[in-house]
Amino acid sequence: MRDSILNPLFVSVETLPGIGSKTSLYIKKLLGNDRLKDLLFLKPSNVIDRTFSPKIKDVIEGQICTLEVEIISHDPNDRYRKVYSVFCKDETGFISVKFFKPRKDWIKSQLPVGEKRVISGTIEKFNNSLQMTHPDFIEKVENKYKVQKVEAVYPLTAGLSRKMIGKAIDKCLDKVPDLAEWNNEHFMAKQKWLSWKESILKLHSPTSKEDIIDNSLFKDRLAYDEVLSMQLALAYVRKFSKEKKGISIGQGGEGLDFKSTKAPLPNPLLQGESQREQAQRKKFDLERGNVLQKLIQDLPFSLTGAQERAIKNIFIDMKSPHKMMRLLQGDVGSGKTIVSLFACINACSSGFQSCIMAPTEILATQHYETINKFCKNLNIEVEILTGKHKGKNREEKLHKINNGEAKIIIGTHALFQESVEFYNLGLAVIDEQHRFGVHQRMMLAEKGEKLDCLVMSATPIPRTLTLTLYGDMDISILDEKPANRKDINTVVINSNKLDDVVNSLQDKINEGEQIYWVCPLVEESEKIDLAAATDRYNNLKKIFGDKVGLIHGKMKADEKKHAMDKFSKGITRILVATTVIEVGVDVKNASIMIIEHSERFGLSQLHQLRGRVGRGEKQSTCILIYSHPISIDGRKRLEIMRKTNDGFLIAEEDLSIRGGGEILGTRQSGIPEFKFADYSIHKDLFMIARQDAKVIIETDPYLKSERGQALRILLYLFEQDVGIKYLEN
Ligand code: ADP
Ligand code: MG
Repeated sequence: MRDSILNPLFVSVETLPGIGSKTSLYIKKLLGNDRLKDLLFLKPSNVIDRTFSPKIKDVIEGQICTLEVEIISHDPNDRYRKVYSVFCKDETGFISVKFFKPRKDWIKSQLPVGEKRVISGTIEKFNNSLQMTHPDFIEKVENKYKVQKVEAVYPLTAGLSRKMIGKAIDKCLDKVPDLAEWNNEHFMAKQKWLSWKESILKLHSPTSKEDIIDNSLFKDRLAYDEVLSMQLALAYVRKFSKEKKGISIGQGGEGLDFKSTKAPLPNPLLQGESQREQAQRKKFDLERGNVLQKLIQDLPFSLTGAQERAIKNIFIDMKSPHKMMRLLQGDVGSGKTIVSLFACINACSSGFQSCIMAPTEILATQHYETINKFCKNLNIEVEILTGKHKGKNREEKLHKINNGEAKIIIGTHALFQESVEFYNLGLAVIDEQHRFGVHQRMMLAEKGEKLDCLVMSATPIPRTLTLTLYGDMDISILDEKPANRKDINTVVINSNKLDDVVNSLQDKINEGEQIYWVCPLVEESEKIDLAAATDRYNNLKKIFGDKVGLIHGKMKADEKKHAMDKFSKGITRILVATTVIEVGVDVKNASIMIIEHSERFGLSQLHQLRGRVGRGEKQSTCILIYSHPISIDGRKRLEIMRKTNDGFLIAEEDLSIRGGGEILGTRQSGIPEFKFADYSIHKDLFMIARQDAKVIIETDPYLKSERGQALRILLYLFEQDVGIKYLEN
């Protein structure tokens, strides 16, 4: 249960005096939620400085000034009744205050003739005389302090004005409770940090622009709180899921010979063997793990050392009586699928079902095809289930999954959301984990209670970050490229040379090459994406006829599959695509990747796209086409792509160009979005928090001590209470 001291922060801002349902609606639009804490965790993006308070003769045009003036007269009919003017002076000069569409009574009451007022707004010059249109503030002189200050400015959304959000924040600040300190006393002293409450108050009361830009003390503290809460939650998930009993699956890989070059065991009937005997023999093979040995022999290549190590670790995890939570991280093309196949077959050899979840249907289909090819030979039944399987076909599949006939089930993540009932699921593999967030990861950890979990990710998260973000998992890294893989040649070309690129394709096609042609990403609108791809498709079709195919996200599942099939069979030679091909697609013969408007893509995305080629033994090429105007950062990004094929290096570079905020913020990255923390600034704090969390969980695992109690509040505050749930069981 959340401590009641936090309750006031978890109610809608609408409950605050003077804040209406409209404001709360717009705040919800802006932040996704309208609780006080959501607003308090919103960082100001800028300031308005009203401290400049000159005499009239010293005002600066275009600048915000706070003036003390005496009202001389009103002219309601200035400029042909369109404008209401109020003339004012001080001892150094004159200024007129203008109102359009005036509410006359209100103006008269606010600016009575003969009295003094403080007005604040932007100074303009019109026909050589000074004026201020619609002052932001009009106050009596004794209330000057209310005006002359620095005001925080927040990101806005249509309908939400600066005044509305400013007022809401002000009211929220009245409700900020004093919370017991959850940070270590010595650490606080060393950092010279303020309390949480003081830090939050300071965040929203900047005294200058520097407070917004600077990574100042109160911001570090808030960042640390955020990171610590996350590290602590991860530490709990890890600790308690490790302690949780899992199922022991397989033989832990004992006796497997990865280097075996013996001829594959015969699959067809042995001499004189009846079908029944064969079935029994296969079952026996399966049980003894022979089927794994056979898989090794069936592979058309030998595993890399990194793949072997990963498989061995996975087998040990699976055999152990604890639940497996392992992250398999490897650059595009490093061969994660095969590793997952070993895990699935290992489950199968203990009689358990396994499932592989992919983020898209194309990928699920592709995994199905790859895996089924091997499994057919091993006599293991594989099923695929995605949204496109409907009606009777679906019923049959569900039936097979339910009665255990289907041993390996491949699908989209809907596999978990829908009420698919497994016979005895023992292992869940999640591919391209970066499409799923940390929360989903935790959900999964909870859902399949005893289930062994293997998550696979191609997101090249910088090495330095992995540990802090995946603290709840064991990690295997595929850091070795399959043998004979050549680096991809990358060239960067100006779009005014596009015709040359197109002309060169005919030769390539004649030489038997296949080409991906990716069209620009326009984030705001999928429609525009589509238009660009369709235009390019029509354009190339004029030249290359039906050798050109098209695939995009708006196509129906079987249209997509059809387009993909035609390309992988070599019927089409050029595949024009939107970014749907970004993840996972594997067509070995494709050796040229052309990306239009490449300057619009993020580095990691370019790297993912480029990874679609260079999968066979041929030398592959990636052509990055850019158009003007291109920013300095855009140019730098393309240059990095040209220079290196190392996904991890690219990720580090991306981090330093864009700053952590952005890479951490991108939904794609699979890295949670932080409100205060920024990896590029707070790197050290991440490390300290990880260590801190570790010590906490060792010394006070149930958060019973005084600090422990305070830490519970921290977890609730940042909604990282997944961890607390474990404490109370
Ligand atoms: P990713 O890690 O990007 O998911 P995949 O599993 O799709 O990579 O593998 C990429 C390609 O490399 C596939 O065609 C796969 O068959 C092949 N591959 C995997 N392991 C090896 C290996 N050890 N040697 C040669 N090719 C391999
Ligand atoms: Mg893959």
